[in-house]
Amino acid sequence: MCVTFHALRFTAVIPMTEINIVPVGSVDRNILEYLSAALSETIGARCVVSSITVDPSDAFNATRHQYNSTQILSKLLEAGRRNGGKLLGVADVDLFIPVLTFVFGEAQLDNQAALTSVHRLRQRFYGLPEDERLFFERCEKESLHELGHAFGLLHCREWECVMHSSNSIEQVDLKKSVFCDSCAAMLASNGSSR
Ligand SMILES: [Zn+2]
Ligand SMILES: [Zn+2]
Repeated sequence: MCVTFHALRFTAVIPMTEINIVPVGSVDRNILEYLSAALSETIGARCVVSSITVDPSDAFNATRHQYNSTQILSKLLEAGRRNGGKLLGVADVDLFIPVLTFVFGEAQLDNQAALTSVHRLRQRFYGLPEDERLFFERCEKESLHELGHAFGLLHCREWECVMHSSNSIEQVDLKKSVFCDSCAAMLASNGSSR
């Protein structure tokens, strides 16, 4: 089966679901505002920067000098459960789960909460000159990816689809900020049934 990409953004219209973007610790407001606009355009749901915040300090692991992603996800859910809609936590700290060196994000599959970190998305993390356009693009991709999981999407084999898994920044750069046709269709169907 051949899956094609639209030249323009494919908007999966999910009018009933609100996406709350929740800052986790200290996060540049420009990133949150950018994501709010970009995600609502691609997903077609209303996105708002939430007034809720989540403090990640309890999840700090002093041995690894990183933050436990699953613990932050639980705190996010606890803080935002009453809000309804989806919760996208955005952190600027380095996240891990015990079996992996790091994670770009984590989400509850087909559930309310998703979490992403922008920490490893800057060029300067890799010792390269900063590129803001690339940084924002990466933030958008990883946010769409984790939200996709929260809407019930699994990893996609289409390498340009935003639901393709990324274990390195090179893999983030290879994919596009869009869902392939089949992921977009599933997103629209899952989103409108909840
Ligand atoms: Zn994933
Ligand atoms: Zn896909």
